[in-house]
Amino acid sequence: MKLDIEGLTVEYGQVAAVRGLNLTVGHGELVALVGPSGCGKTTTLGFITGFIRPKSGRVRFDGLDVTDLPPQRRGIGYVFQDYAIYPHMTVRENIRFPLDAAKVDRKKAERDVDEIAGLMGVGNLLARRPHQLSGGQRQRVALARALVKKPVVLLLDEPLSNLDAHLRVEVRAEIRRLQLDLKMTTVFVTHDQAEAMAIADRVAVMNNGDIVALTSPSTLYSRPPSLFAAQFIGSPQINIWATDGPDEALARRVIAPLVGDGGAGLLAGVRPEHVMVGAGDIKATTTLTEPLGRDFLVHLEVGPSSIRSLVPAAQGALLKTGEVVPIAMERSHLLLFDAATGHRVEIDEAGTRREDDTRETDGGLAG
Ligand code: ATP
Repeated sequence: MKLDIEGLTVEYGQVAAVRGLNLTVGHGELVALVGPSGCGKTTTLGFITGFIRPKSGRVRFDGLDVTDLPPQRRGIGYVFQDYAIYPHMTVRENIRFPLDAAKVDRKKAERDVDEIAGLMGVGNLLARRPHQLSGGQRQRVALARALVKKPVVLLLDEPLSNLDAHLRVEVRAEIRRLQLDLKMTTVFVTHDQAEAMAIADRVAVMNNGDIVALTSPSTLYSRPPSLFAAQFIGSPQINIWATDGPDEALARRVIAPLVGDGGAGLLAGVRPEHVMVGAGDIKATTTLTEPLGRDFLVHLEVGPSSIRSLVPAAQGALLKTGEVVPIAMERSHLLLFDAATGHRVEIDEAGTRREDDTRETDGGLAG
């Protein structure tokens, strides 16, 4: 099922929560919506389910306009943040509910409930009632209930938020496996950019009620279309130095190999793993080292400029605060942005600047 949102605008009184948003999700594709708190993710999802009335905008399933259909007639599965499951029903009855409503044969329904409950890790809780479950267990029951019908469109709003870190990764993988198996067209809302990158075919970065970047996780990371996307995606955050302002000396030095004209009006961006410590012609002072497990995050200074570098733990453990070390930036991973527009800029061999003006660089899956 292909999902199309066209020209969605939603206002709450004076507040424009979503402003002219367009999005196409291909058949069987999973698009993750990420963005800062309040950017309009939940509102967009609420519109697709039919719970939120827009000021303007249409939503189509395989070309069929469903904007005026009530939620229950849209044939979608959804799990929202508050994962309301029915308190008076057992877990089994809760999960079976959509099948009962669709008058599925009881024996088949029970088999389906057992299967999905097993996958979501709640198979041993089927006789309990919601008040006898933890928050994370309730969330997995809500997921099982959304998935048991094998919906063609699946909408998930922070479905993993109540799970501990370990379980988050496990349930995330389970959702992705099922989604791929059943080719469910899915929109997955999360504020966790790492989760979005891990699960999605494409990631839509939202800001101020609109999508500002929409592309594959790998492109979004290595060639983000804008400064906002570059800074939102990736942890620790990308280093950004402006050629105008206090970081001028470092910024100009970093981009000199690429830009002949001194780079006025440009920002240089380098992800921490592409700042190499131990070799190079820039001298930096180590100000702090943080062990992160496999890597160390090393904070450095060059004059007034701060630099974050990610180095292997074995190397990071040997660095001392106050130590002066040579550093270098990997030139092939250097990103440039226009300081005025925030768009990523590419520079060709003749030295001509070209802005990355493609919002949808991958165009989505077929269908
Ligand atoms: P979060 O990540 O915090 O859940 P979000 O990206 O999902 O945020 P929305 O919940 O869609 O954002 O909200 C978008 C904007 O609309 C916010 O400014 C929010 O305060 C506002 N808003 C949401 N619901 C209502 C409402 N019922 N009445 C008034 N304003 C609302």
